[in-house]
Amino acid sequence: MIRVAINGYGTVGKRVADAVAAQPDMEIVGVSKTRPSFEAYIAKARGFPLYIADLSKRAPFEKLGLPVAGSVAEMLARADVVVDATPGGVGKENKPLYEKTGVKAIFQGGEDHEVAGFSFCSDCNYRMAMGRQFVRVVSCNTTGLCRIINTLDKEYGIAKVRAVMVRRASDPGEVKKGPVDAVVLDPVTVPSHHGPDVQTVLPHIPISTMAMIVPTTFMHMHAVQVDLKKDGKKERILELIRGHPRMGLVLGGTGIKSTAELKEYALDLGRPRGDLWESCIFADSIAVQGKDVSFFQAIHQEADIVVENVDAIRAMVGSVKDPGESIRMTNEALHFVAI
Ligand code: NAD
Repeated sequence: MIRVAINGYGTVGKRVADAVAAQPDMEIVGVSKTRPSFEAYIAKARGFPLYIADLSKRAPFEKLGLPVAGSVAEMLARADVVVDATPGGVGKENKPLYEKTGVKAIFQGGEDHEVAGFSFCSDCNYRMAMGRQFVRVVSCNTTGLCRIINTLDKEYGIAKVRAVMVRRASDPGEVKKGPVDAVVLDPVTVPSHHGPDVQTVLPHIPISTMAMIVPTTFMHMHAVQVDLKKDGKKERILELIRGHPRMGLVLGGTGIKSTAELKEYALDLGRPRGDLWESCIFADSIAVQGKDVSFFQAIHQEADIVVENVDAIRAMVGSVKDPGESIRMTNEALHFVAI
């Protein structure tokens, strides 16, 4: 069994912990929190040992009936791999501890590429992650872009990608974030960081991205235009998406035209937390004119990177050599069949 620790049991950490615990070849040795919260109660309910960064704060946890198993350093000593899911920028501060312990560490998209020196997307560069001590799973938006770009690139070659990201303002639980009533250009300048971030995984892809934030919490929406190197065919592109384990087609017949309906659909499907681990590509939006392809895709920010973290663990440990096999194992353990 691969022993996995989760440093930072928040929006991403709690999801990765559940996905790891569901795998036949992995176990959770502990999760960490900085202060008591409802998520600490969830960790207790799941039976995950709870560790804290600063042991002087043990009393407030124990007063609330939350037993503390030890310090983060002690948790790391029990792990083969730690998934660092602390807020952006904190992972970089944690890296010296991982270096000292010798534990393999996965950082998230809130960290710069340089923190790990290698950026990961399962079906793009799994094999290149094998044996590494540090890997960064790219952000939710970058993951969504990489999946479809890599798929189209393998089939047709890509001359240029242009994408506009309409981003959710906050995750549903983040009550203090905004905007409440504005469309915020983030950033005003072009390109946004997403294009260069895609190039940390797929360096040969010419891509330019623009991004804005809108008052919603459900998902991101991408408007993507791709110049292929050869003429494309809509039927073939639909087939490629249908055959991909991490991309799904939102069919016109469902009547779904929004992120809100998609989330409702995921809840009705019985997905844990209503999570959509797949990129949700609107079938009717796919327009192909010669080499020119356009489409909309919705990305569930809290979910798509979860399954990528699980694959990254196997790649780094080297227990499964074939990316397709790891992706299959991850999906199967979560009973995940793309929509
Ligand atoms: P979050 O704020 O929901 O959770 C972070 C958790 O880490 C919290 O429980 C916090 O208490 C804990 N924490 C803070 N400092 C810590 C420390 N020093 N040691 C241990 N724990 C600490 O954050 P999140 O949304 O889960 O984001 C985590 C990372 O994932 C970030 O890099 C973010 O950019 C990335 N990410 C987030 C999303 C998303 O939609 N939320 C999507 C993709 C990637």
